[in-house]
Amino acid sequence: MKLYRITEDNSPRYTGNLNAGHRWGLPGVEWSHPCPACRLGGAVGGLPYPCMDLASLPEPEKFHEAEQVPYEEYARLRELVRPLLPWWAVLRPGASFGPVEGSGLGYFGQLFMQNPWTLFARREALERLQAAGVRGLQGAPIKVRFRTKHAPELLELQMELRGQFHPACLPPDHKPSCPTCGGHQNHLPKRILLDASSLPEHVDVFRLRDWSGCIIANERFVETVKRLELDGVVFEEMEVR
Ligand SMILES: [Zn+2]
Repeated sequence: MKLYRITEDNSPRYTGNLNAGHRWGLPGVEWSHPCPACRLGGAVGGLPYPCMDLASLPEPEKFHEAEQVPYEEYARLRELVRPLLPWWAVLRPGASFGPVEGSGLGYFGQLFMQNPWTLFARREALERLQAAGVRGLQGAPIKVRFRTKHAPELLELQMELRGQFHPACLPPDHKPSCPTCGGHQNHLPKRILLDASSLPEHVDVFRLRDWSGCIIANERFVETVKRLELDGVVFEEMEVR
């Protein structure tokens, strides 16, 4: 099975842009009060769960603040969120939840990426993909005010976290994510090689567990997108071993 990274189509006709962020998020960790295991602070980011609703949590305001908090506070907030998430989810400082909120402008394709780690689809595109049997897509409504005549109905897609890098592509200084806080200081390998034994068979599109900012599709997804003539993204074949 061939695999492809999904990236935005940079053609000039796609002028669509969202000036929007997720309603809730886990804070980053203060460098002065870092994780006790790895001594790292900061936030990793690139880990959205748009289908998750945090409104029922006891202190929802704690999940609106952009500032960083001591590790102990981060860990406490993380444990409040964890029971709401699907079992395959991972949590890291900077993970985000719920609908994106803000404003939007320009022309959007059937599929749209605001950045490499968020994938959106027009409602009709998602329905056509699902009707064609594509597995692994869950759509979340967004709260965006469009300053455009024909505003698109966009949904943000939530995907499972699956798959790992093949050890052969990792630089010598690569360290696994910290089991305590989920953080890491790695860079994306220059030439990505996926570990075939780690790849899922029950979904056609997923977020790479080792690098959540990377959204990956299989041949079945790519062929369906091409057959349905859904535009707005391009596919780059990945190496698998
Ligand atoms: Zn840590």
